[in-house]
Amino acid sequence: MRTSIALFTRDLRVSDNPMLYAAVAGADRVVPLFVLDPKLPTPPNRAAFLLRCLTDLDDALRDLGGALIVRHGDPVTEVSRLIAEHGVSDVHVSADVSGYAQRRQGRLEAIPGVGVHVHETVTTAAAPGSLTPTGGGDHFAVFTPYLRRWQTAASRIPLPPPSRITIPEVESAGFHDVASGEGLPAPELAEGGERTGRALLSEWVDGPVAGYADGRDDLAGDRTSRLSPHLHFGTLSPVEVLYRVGRDSQGAREFGRQLAWRDFHHQMLAARPRTAREDYRPRGDRWRDAPEELAAWREGRTGYPIVDAGMRQLLREGWMHNRARMITASFLTKTLYVDWRAGARHFQQHLVDADVANNQLNWQWVAGTGADTRPNRVLNPLRQAIRYDPSGDYVRRYVPELHRIPGAAVHEPWNLPVPERRALTYPDPVVDLADGRQRFLSARNA
Ligand SMILES: Cc1cc2nc3c(=O)[nH]c(=O)nc-3n(C[C@H](O)[C@H](O)[C@H](O)COP(=O)(O)OP(=O)(O)OC[C@H]3O[C@@H](n4cnc5c(N)ncnc54)[C@H](O)[C@@H]3O)c2cc1C
Repeated sequence: MRTSIALFTRDLRVSDNPMLYAAVAGADRVVPLFVLDPKLPTPPNRAAFLLRCLTDLDDALRDLGGALIVRHGDPVTEVSRLIAEHGVSDVHVSADVSGYAQRRQGRLEAIPGVGVHVHETVTTAAAPGSLTPTGGGDHFAVFTPYLRRWQTAASRIPLPPPSRITIPEVESAGFHDVASGEGLPAPELAEGGERTGRALLSEWVDGPVAGYADGRDDLAGDRTSRLSPHLHFGTLSPVEVLYRVGRDSQGAREFGRQLAWRDFHHQMLAARPRTAREDYRPRGDRWRDAPEELAAWREGRTGYPIVDAGMRQLLREGWMHNRARMITASFLTKTLYVDWRAGARHFQQHLVDADVANNQLNWQWVAGTGADTRPNRVLNPLRQAIRYDPSGDYVRRYVPELHRIPGAAVHEPWNLPVPERRALTYPDPVVDLADGRQRFLSARNA
């Protein structure tokens, strides 16, 4: 009797999961395994989301006749143990790109006596490394040529869930305590799990995606898909998302372009795992050490309402609108000239969708040490606010101290008449925008 292990990682779903599908198709019995590795930091928001994903995956596997087997410890050690205990012949795992994932994959492949199968297009739509520039090189460093290749690359058809799973008698450790950090999850955290992800996707495809091209920068309108945590944990398949969204409307095509950004960052990290910590394009920065300004930024009290609204959305929901991520990240790395790594760490701590590829490389993009072809652009938070939150509703939603200020006036509380200004419990700006911009440009041009 042939037994295989389906090692779940960031692919916590039964639908369109080539890793699970192949494991079931190639064996009589399968151990659907998830290993909680204490070495991987899982802050409260991601831990809470992950717990829901695991519960939901267990339910889905039980409906198919199986169950999720959970172990705690080093994944390779746990896999080796199961191989010895159950005479396993094959191990299936999805390809992934971080240094951690690449090391795990290498160690799995080194286990003697078993077939290790690494499946592509499970965590990304295009396999990292499968698209390379015509001029040579192992990855694309600029998005537009990558997009052109990505759009014409063949894509596979999504797979159904396996029809039945038979598992051997295996002990499971359960999955109650997955958080590795202190603190509680954000009060308005999204709900994890494949069922929730699929419901969200269906709603998105049935309507809002058509308006995505016009609505994606509308901060108050909240008109993006919010699928990012599901793509991060793999409760949704990027291949299936693209397949279902199609290319019929301008919104659908623009949405597809965002998923290409996701793949783009994954292929960069796959080729250069050290960019999780090191500048992709070093600019000779000598970042400022400014602990008080950094603390004000983290807590959403910089005195710039649009920046503070974004930072407080992060604390309240464990998620932030993309436009707000760009504004807050530019404010930290350029206006305050603080190291992108400090910002990326804070985002990693709170974002439910935080992943090494998208977080670190978007931070580098904004800081101008990554793939941005205009690395010294500085976003002016006021101009951004007037353009992307013209009604001021986004700011009033997240900065309650300012909720009485009507319209766009909320973006410039310093212009209020003195008595009204004094009555506010809202801080003065931590920096003058023009000074901050000048300091950054001088440093970069030095
Ligand atoms: C400083 C900074 C940090 C970020 N950190 C992360 C992160 O840790 N994890 C993460 O998934 N995204 C990150 N992003 C990208 C983007 O902000 C989020 O993917 C997006 O806001 C998620 O919301 P959504 O699902 O509603 O997006 P939608 O606008 O509906 O887009 C659909 C999907 O496309 C992908 N996508 C969209 N924009 C980008 C982008 N710029 N780069 C890569 N993929 C993108 C996401 O998977 C997203 O779910 C970051 C952006 C910045 C500027």
